[in-house]
Amino acid sequence: MTREESNKPAPCPGCGTSEHVPVERARTDRSGRREDLATRLASGPDHTGGGCTHLAEGIVIAGMAAAAGAYAADDRNLPWLTAVGAVAAVLILVATIAIVRGENRDARRVLAGAAWAAELTGDARYCPGCRGVFSASGSPWSQPVSPERFRLHVWTAAGYGDLLDAKAKAGEPPSP
Ligand SMILES: [Zn+2]
Repeated sequence: MTREESNKPAPCPGCGTSEHVPVERARTDRSGRREDLATRLASGPDHTGGGCTHLAEGIVIAGMAAAAGAYAADDRNLPWLTAVGAVAAVLILVATIAIVRGENRDARRVLAGAAWAAELTGDARYCPGCRGVFSASGSPWSQPVSPERFRLHVWTAAGYGDLLDAKAKAGEPPSP
């Protein structure tokens, strides 16, 4: 990743101030935290809770289903309950693996697009006056756009724009 920061930044095309900062810094500085810019300017989804946890949980639950079936079969003298427990266990395992594989696929896509997302973000500047993002080079944003628009563009260009919907629904802060 290359980042060029000239000593004299060009004024913001929206309001003319030079007090704008690289998007990467805006995410973490004080005012950025206040406005939740880490999320609103994120260049990709952050994955909390890995697939391994889900897999371990699935195996435990499947094991419990199998054990419960075997126990009930013994207790009530109904041998076919063992098979029911085993089938339930297999179904739980299959579902768990499908979920984990889906998550891994998303994670791979995010990883694959990360370089391009970083490139797009590299010359993006956040202007606190306009509360918007513009490109130092003038392309693709010659005028400040909202953090949400910036994020949608980056995620879409990086190939995982569809992952934004679920995240946005999860609790998008209202735009000022
Ligand atoms: Zn501005």
